[in-house]
Formats: sequence, C-alpha cells, structure tokens
Amino acid sequence: MLDSLLIATTNPGKRREFAELLVRLPVTLVWPDERGLRIEVEETGDTFEENARLKALAYAQASGLWALADDSGLEVDALGGAPGVHTARYAGPEASDAQRYGLLLARMREVPSNRRGARFRCAIVVAAPDGRSWATEGACEGMIAQAPSGAGGFGYDPVFYMPEWGCTMADLPAEIKNRVSHRARAAQAMRRLLLDEIIPHG
Ligand code: IMP
Repeated sequence: MLDSLLIATTNPGKRREFAELLVRLPVTLVWPDERGLRIEVEETGDTFEENARLKALAYAQASGLWALADDSGLEVDALGGAPGVHTARYAGPEASDAQRYGLLLARMREVPSNRRGARFRCAIVVAAPDGRSWATEGACEGMIAQAPSGAGGFGYDPVFYMPEWGCTMADLPAEIKNRVSHRARAAQAMRRLLLDEIIPHG
C-alpha cells in the first residue's frame, strides 16, 4: 500500500521545491537522510525519463518504499540542445553551480539575443518496490541571460531569463517558480496521476 513516498534526492534545492509541490497528498513524504540512505545512481540513460527511472527504481529497491525521483536539465537551442542530460556534469563532476553556468555564459558570449532560446526539462518517475513505474514530464521555455541575476532557486536559475516575467528564474519568488517551472509542471501532472491512478491501485 502506498502510504509513504520516498523523495529520491539529496539536492537541497530540489528537496525544498518537492516539499512545496507535493503538499496535501494523502501520503507521508520520506527523505533519504531520515532512513540513512545514501545511494549513488549512475545516470547512464539517454533521456531525462530514463535517468529519473534509474534513480526511482534504485531508491525503491534499496528502501522497500515507493520512491519518486526527478531528472532535469537545460536544452539550449544555439548549442544543439546541449547540455541536456549532461547538465549536471557540464563543467566536470566537481564544479559548482556558478562554474557550470559561467561556462555556459562563456560558450554563449557571441550568440545574439534572438538566438538565445532555451528550455528547462524535468521528468518525474514514481516507482514501486516491485518494479512498476509511472512517468510525467514538464518543460519551461526561456532564454539564456547575458549575465547572472537573482538569489532564489538553485542550479542554472540565475542565467535562465523568462521574458513573460521580465526576470530570471532566480529572481522569481519561490511560490511563482513552483507554479511555472519545468518541475512544477511535471509535479502537477504526477499529483494527478498519484491521486487518480497510483494511490487508488497502489
Ligand atoms: P539532476 O536532475 O539532478 O541530474 O540535475 C541536472 C542539472 O540541472 C543540475 O546541474 C541542476 O543544478 C540543474 N537543474 C535542475 N533543476 C533545475 C532548476 O529547477 N533550476 C536550475 N537548474 C536546475
């Protein structure tokens, strides 16, 4: 029976957002550190969904709990869709967020503003301990800024400019990011799937 859901992330930015995005579901959210879980999952998939599934299944099998994982990243049109599934390792495995988006800005230095289109993508997978899984996706369109701005969010948010809001994702208040982001959209779809299909039959 699905009464607890392990949120398979150790990223503090994702944790904050999922705590908001998954409120008022009839399940108890469980975090890896509460169960002493530290699992390194190699993200060998070619798509966000494959990588999210690898993480959700690894956590579900290791814990015996239902698990929810996301995989997300940035697709930049002028870079042919890169960094895509390699977004987290864009500047090497030990780089900071600022080094990662600094490298992106350097590679985009000569690109004019009408060719700076990009989108964040997020896939969310819920996996059962018996190996069944369900997936949703969300995307959020924007542009790569000329320079970083804002202190909210995490990751590449300071360089993701959103024309309809006139600011970067890091400038948006958390409650707005949690309505319009790639993760918000994938999470809203997963909430519906959990309520309509997964929890009733789980
Ligand atoms: P992963 O999904 O944990 O593999 O992370 C992918 C990469 O995308 C990491 O570098 C994250 O910092 C970045 N990322 C994921 N979600 C967001 C977001 O909501 N805003 C900004 N960067 C993000």
